[in-house]
Parts: sequence; C-alpha cells; structure tokens
Amino acid sequence: METIRNIVIVGGGTAGWMTAAALSKILGPQYADITLVESEDIGTVGVGEATIPQINIFNRLLGLKEDDFIRQTNGTFKLGIEFVDWARKGHSYFHPFGPYGFDMKGVSFHAFWQKLQTLGVSDSISDYNLQAVAARDGKFMRPVQVENSPLSTIAYAFHFDAGLYAKFLRRFSEGLGAQRIEGRIVSADKNADTGFLEAVVLNDGRRIEGDLFIDCSGFRGLLIGQQMGVGYEDWSKWLPNNRAWAVPTERVPSRSEALGQNKYANPTPYTRSTAREAGWQWRIPLQHRTGNGYVFSNNFIDEQAAMDTLLQNLDAKPLKDPMLIKFQGGHRHKFWEKNVVAIGLASGFMEPLESTSIHLIQVGIAKLLQMFPDKGFEQADINRYNMMSVREYEYIRDFLVLHFNQTERDDSEYWRYCRNMELPPRLQEKYDLFQSRGRIFRENEELFNDTSWFAVMVGQGMTWRGYDPVADVMTDEDVKRQLFGIKDAIRKSSDYMPTHEDFIRANCAM
Ligand code: FAD
Repeated sequence: METIRNIVIVGGGTAGWMTAAALSKILGPQYADITLVESEDIGTVGVGEATIPQINIFNRLLGLKEDDFIRQTNGTFKLGIEFVDWARKGHSYFHPFGPYGFDMKGVSFHAFWQKLQTLGVSDSISDYNLQAVAARDGKFMRPVQVENSPLSTIAYAFHFDAGLYAKFLRRFSEGLGAQRIEGRIVSADKNADTGFLEAVVLNDGRRIEGDLFIDCSGFRGLLIGQQMGVGYEDWSKWLPNNRAWAVPTERVPSRSEALGQNKYANPTPYTRSTAREAGWQWRIPLQHRTGNGYVFSNNFIDEQAAMDTLLQNLDAKPLKDPMLIKFQGGHRHKFWEKNVVAIGLASGFMEPLESTSIHLIQVGIAKLLQMFPDKGFEQADINRYNMMSVREYEYIRDFLVLHFNQTERDDSEYWRYCRNMELPPRLQEKYDLFQSRGRIFRENEELFNDTSWFAVMVGQGMTWRGYDPVADVMTDEDVKRQLFGIKDAIRKSSDYMPTHEDFIRANCAM
C-alpha cells in the first residue's frame, strides 16, 4: 500500500477551493502536497449564491468563524425559499428549513395538521414552522438554548457572493499549505499501459505531476470528459431548462435607510423563486447587491425574449449586462474514473431551484474522504463512490421534477410539457402514497426530508384522500389544543426575533 502524496486540483471556482480547503484541513501538508491550478483568463462561472443548512457541517469541519465568513462574502441568512406563481399565477408558498411542529405519540406532525383541516380549521402549514413565519416577518437570529422553545432549533443557511467565497477559501487553503498555480492547462500525460493520468501540462510547458487528480474545471470537464472520455447522462427530458441569464442589481434601500438612519436594508431572509412563462426567476439578496437570474429552456422561449423578461421583472437597477450561461441537466456516467475524481460542475449539474449544487460539492468531498484511495485505487471503492453519487443526484432530480410537474399552470407550451412529462422511476410511487393517506417516505440517503416533500407537495397543490388514520390516537379537541399551542409558541418566537437587517448589523455587517 502506497500513500497518495501529490493531489492536483484542476480549477479554482467554488468546487476547487472547497476541495482544497477540506483536504488541506483534514489531510494536512504532512500527508500530501495539495496543488490547485486555475486560469484567471478562463475565470469561474461566478454564480451560485444560495445554500442549504448542510453547509454548516462543512463550515464546522473547516472551523470557520461564521461572522467572519458572512462579513467576507457579503452574506445574508436564509430560512427557506418562497415559490411564487408555481402552483398557479397569484399563488405563493414557502419551503422552509427545519420541521413543521413536532411528531406526537410517534405520529408525524403533518398527519395531525391534515386531520385539523378536516375539523374545519384552514391554518396554513407555514404557521407551524418558525423559519417560515420568521421569513414572512423579515426576522432572523441564530438558535439560543431555551428549553422547549422553537428558538432553540432555528435552521438556517446563507446567501453569499460566490466569487468572494472562493477567495475566502483560497486564503484559508493557502494558510494551511495548499499551493496555487496560475496557468492554462492545454494537455495531459497519461500512462499508456494503465490509462492513469500522470500530469497536466500548462501552456508555458510546465508539467504538474500528481497521484490523484480532482477535476473541478467546471462545465467543460477538462479531465473527466476530455481526458478520461467519460460521457454525460442527459436528463433534459425531466429537467428541460438549459440556459440562464444572470444579472446583479442594486440593493433595494430600506425605509430606515431612506430616512438616513441605517446603512443596511432589510434583505429578505429567504430566496425567492418566481415561475415564468418558460422557466423561473431567482432573487437572492446579499448585503451589497441582489443576485437575479432567469433559468429557462430555449426550446420554449428564445434567448432574447428570456432576457427581456428578466430585465422587466427586476426590483432594482441592474449593475451590469446580463450574462448567459448554457448548461445541460444531468451528470457524468462516472464521477470517478481511474485516478480522476470530478467534483462540482465538471461532474454534473441540476438547476439551482433548491440550491443544491454547493451541497453536491460538499457531498463529493465528504465521500472522497470516506473512500480516500491509496495508489492501488481499489475498484470496489471507486464503484461505491460512483453508485452513491448517482443516487444522490437521482433523489434530488425527483424532488425538482415535483415542482414542475405538479402544477395547475397550463398557460404556455412549457408548462403543458412539464405537467405531462414522463416521470422518473419512483416518483409516481411518492405521489401515490401522498395522494392516498398523505404519507411521505424518505429513501435511505435522500437529501430532502419529509418536511421538504410535504412543503412542496402541498404548496404545488397536491391533495390527499384522507389523513393517516393513526392521527386518531388524539381526539379532535386534543389535536386542536396541541396544534394551536405550537402555532402560538412559533408566533411569539418570531415576535421575539430581531429583524434580519438588525441581526446582520449587530454581528456581521461588511
Ligand atoms: P467553475 O466556477 O466554472 O470553475 C472552473 C474553474 O476551472 C475555474 O477556476 C477555471 O479557471 C478553471 N479552468 C477551467 N479550464 C481550465 C484550464 N484549461 N486551465 C486551467 N484552469 C481551468 N449553486 C448553489 O449551490 N446555489 C445556487 O444558488 C446556484 N446558482 C447557480 C446558478 C446558475 C445559473 C448556475 C449555472 C450554477 C449555479 N450554482 C448554484 C452552481 C454553482 O455555481 C457551482 O456549483 C459552483 O460555482 C461550482 O462551480 P465549479 O467550481 O465547479 O466551476
């Protein structure tokens, strides 16, 4: 058994620097040399600003100071996603982080809420989740230890400037001994017998040798695709969107700012996604600007019309011209081939509807550490890594498809296609279980939990024939008493919280 001594990371976008940071922290320079090659001329994709709470695990692994991280990336906090016009025009719902209420007598909370509906109470499911209520109120704080209070379990993620995040992680990685090389890779040397990669070659002739290569080169998949010849699984029949226009706008001034009292506006502590004629538009508030984009399918709208739609639907003045990004939903047939592992856009992409790409980078790194090779590169490890990666993608894909497929919208060719598309395997079963007794089953390693599926299924307008019969373990009166108690505690908790703006100003303003 010979230990890996030279790790070469190709690409310095979010994926490259997250990988460099994690490997530097966990393995350290005494274990292996970590070299990252990037080309400023080529640049990074430069978007990717919304995250999910799992990023906190990554930040803890690195030992980051959260306030410092927020300040240096102009970040804000995120409690979930608001979906506007998705089920039908004029309708909106919220997909929050954290659970609804809590399970009682071993029965899921949502079953009691469904029972409550039959008792003539039409409370929104959002009233039972602190993140959803606080988001509506523009509030935020980190959890505090108060017994039996929803304030002790606040779940949150971040919005941040992806470019600043990569810079932040670069400083972190270099501080731990990672080496950065500026240059454009033009070719690679492979061992003629084994097919293993031996070195990447730069345009000035330099050769960077390695034992393990991590391809973080973005959509082009420089090593995994171009050198190792690994093909791409195209999911466009399920995820037809293949373009995005992205444009930053000025931060909307707050009322207090207009009065000259405060420097910072109250940025919404959530991402907004608005369904459009042939796709959807994101809005991500940062401290210094707002990120916007229209994700669409050019089979249903042309690029110019999509750009016009985006520009007509902004809250504030654009700071530059919109940038067009082309992509294809799907993933590499293999994420790891011989001594090349692809992480980030080089390994695949699903549109950012549920902010999962940065999470997938994190999962790729965690799995690599779990299956870390020696120079023997055991095929069983590689196979397991590939299998886990494909599953991770498939679970997320199914959840995304739900958003498009379950809708009343039929006002454009695009929405008619989405409503009638052939479903991926397994999704129909999820629908059937929900539509009968409102049940949701989370597959073993599935990222999105019951709350997420419930939020989106209810939000998209799905209905159920009856509630889980076991919810009758509590009498009608007890269900009302318990649920109203939970709702009240959540209402009071949100009232207690500071505004998002005040929280940032007090702790982590840029
Ligand atoms: P890139 O940023 O493209 O970086 C590639 C790197 O490789 C660059 O440093 C480049 O210089 C280098 N490189 C390439 N070729 C060479 C070469 N020949 N020689 C040397 N260097 C080379 N994710 C989220 O989690 N949340 C979001 O809200 C979100 N929104 C998104 C919106 C859109 C429209 C898109 C397209 C993506 C979004 N993502 C989001 C995904 C997120 O942006 C990416 O996952 C993330 O930025 C990682 O990109 P990357 O590092 O893989 O690739």
